[in-house]
Amino acid sequence: MPGIVIVGAGQAGGNAAVAAREAGYEGPITLIGAEEHLPYERPPLSKEALLAPTLPPPKLLFSPEKLTQRGIATMPGVRVEAIRAAAREAVLADGRALAWEKLLIATGGRPRALAVPGGEHALLLRTYEDAAAIRALLVAGTRVACIGAGVIGLEIASSARARGCEVTVIEAADGVMGRVLSAPLAAFMRERHEAAGVQLRLGAVVHALEPGRVICGGFAVAADVLIAGIGIVRDTALAESAGIVCAGAVPVDATTATSVPGIFAAGDIAAFVHPLFGRQMVLETWRHAQNHGIAAGRAMAGTPAPYDDVPWFWTDQLGLNLQVAGLPREGVRTIWRGELGAASFTAFHLDEAGRLIGAEGVGAAREIRAAQALIKARQPVDAALLADPSVAAQKLATATR
Ligand code: NAP
Repeated sequence: MPGIVIVGAGQAGGNAAVAAREAGYEGPITLIGAEEHLPYERPPLSKEALLAPTLPPPKLLFSPEKLTQRGIATMPGVRVEAIRAAAREAVLADGRALAWEKLLIATGGRPRALAVPGGEHALLLRTYEDAAAIRALLVAGTRVACIGAGVIGLEIASSARARGCEVTVIEAADGVMGRVLSAPLAAFMRERHEAAGVQLRLGAVVHALEPGRVICGGFAVAADVLIAGIGIVRDTALAESAGIVCAGAVPVDATTATSVPGIFAAGDIAAFVHPLFGRQMVLETWRHAQNHGIAAGRAMAGTPAPYDDVPWFWTDQLGLNLQVAGLPREGVRTIWRGELGAASFTAFHLDEAGRLIGAEGVGAAREIRAAQALIKARQPVDAALLADPSVAAQKLATATR
């Protein structure tokens, strides 16, 4: 009997499998992943995996026993080459065809390679094996060059500094984490990295890599280890083989269904119209992969529901826990709770209607939790209450006018 086939055994795919079963799906569920592991957590790969005294094993999302109990068959180390939509088959790399009733594309993305001469000299970080290889090179005194000052570049920079390496971060833009942070938070993170001894080369164009050297316009950086964290690319060929028209991502509706009946997509690979922001977006975060995967699992089990998770992610750098909710860069007015640079502070960003559209906080997990509720509420907020440090963080969730 054809059941659910899930292509991609990461955060989205693993959660979809379990959610489909827990939503009452009774047929076979098969989870296929190109990596040799059962679904595992990626957040530790740029943090604990680089820092712990010995390499920790992959942190599995679900124990093998739990997957077995749920009747989820796993196929690690297997690639799906094509999807035949009319025949409802997935074609595996060895030519076998697997029948399905519902199919989920949860293949995520892969790190973008640096497209310059010698670009292959830069290591990339996405998998457990990538982290193990980078970790082995982070020996005290080693010169490390990270290309890209996004989350990957800065988390690696932070881990490498903690391991006693000399670190240079080379970034094309004129600030750090520019895609996700507001200008004041980006400046704060930049200052913290500089204070921690990270050499930042901003506005730099990388022309070529050589073993031991990054050649940029006007200068070169000597380094023993070169690492690139310049974003991800989504491989939409699989979806296109099924007849889904893609433009850099797989478009899905509010319930994770694609344009082809029976085929769903979730996580980093999927683009959807976010009901809170009214436009199509792709989210590349841990929690989105989890919750979008769960939404897809439920939809495949026959219980679809509109997905409206507030975007949220965290990053740990230089001993700071930074959390970001919503779209901070789209605010037109900022309310501060605590002073920028204090041990705990939050920036609440309001849109033109006085509603919360984004928030960033350092050491402020509770405030950011409250901010997510406010972003979802879509009501004008009480700015004075948000700014008042004597108001308990938990009470902020209802700070609407
Ligand atoms: P990212 O956050 O998109 O950052 C990539 C950075 O590299 C951007 O600042 C980009 O600048 C810069 N860049 C692009 N091309 C460059 C070039 N040729 N030379 C120098 N700089 C260049 O992507 P990432 O850091 O590689 O992370 C990969 C994925 O992992 C993302 O999906 C990310 O969300 C995820 N991740 C998440 C976390 C977390 O949530 N804590 C941690 C690690 C990774 P422009 O913007 O100007 O192009």
